[in-house]
Amino acid sequence: MPSDIASRLIAVRARIDAAARSVGRSANDIRLIAVSKTFPLAAIREAYAAGQREFGENKVQEGLQKITESTDISIRWHLLGHLQRNKARKALAFHAIQSVDSVDLLQKLDAAAEADGHAPELLVQVDLAGEQTKFGLPPADVPRLLDAAAACHAVRVVGLMLIPPAPETPEEARPWFRQLRELRDRWIAGGVPENLLRELSMGMSGDFEVAIQEGATIVRVGTAIFGSRYVQQ
Ligand SMILES: *Cc1c(COP(=O)(O)O)cnc(C)c1O
Repeated sequence: MPSDIASRLIAVRARIDAAARSVGRSANDIRLIAVSKTFPLAAIREAYAAGQREFGENKVQEGLQKITESTDISIRWHLLGHLQRNKARKALAFHAIQSVDSVDLLQKLDAAAEADGHAPELLVQVDLAGEQTKFGLPPADVPRLLDAAAACHAVRVVGLMLIPPAPETPEEARPWFRQLRELRDRWIAGGVPENLLRELSMGMSGDFEVAIQEGATIVRVGTAIFGSRYVQQ
């Protein structure tokens, strides 16, 4: 018998496949990040046993703990939550950091990565809604960060990440996803190298199918795989 986590993973993968096909895309072009924040390592190991290889955490400390305790298996770890500049060096333990939201942080990460000799992939978190309480860079400031990224020595920016205002229905999220894709297309048309904008990380448990229809290449799914968190994030 597959575990709950294994069967929910199968269901999520099937939904990713169906959403991709509904717009003529291939599920192979979409990476599923299992968001394991607040869940114990045992849950991560179950998902790993079911074939899941990429996991996301939103706190540096909690992520580092799990990274340290799972060196016997081969996981790609994504940091999804806000990163303070003074934790840049520690965050290099992650394989990807999706929450880069300032030139300062980018350069701090680059300097640390150059010194350490290994560099995570970076995504720029974009704040489309101008929400005061959320992190992320306003779209108008993104081109300047991408310029700085092109000059980095060690780290590579590979795309954009979006957390839209919490939607009540999946369709409510669609305009935000579309807006991020259109911005990406506009920046590429304006001369930003395509490899800096290859990935669009958007879509969570409640709306990943809509995000895929709008061009997501990375979806970040927590509760639909692991169950409810019961803890306020
Ligand atoms: C928690 C979290 C997710 C996953 O949310 P679910 O609704 O549980 O799928 C995705 N992205 C980020 C940045 C998160 O913090």
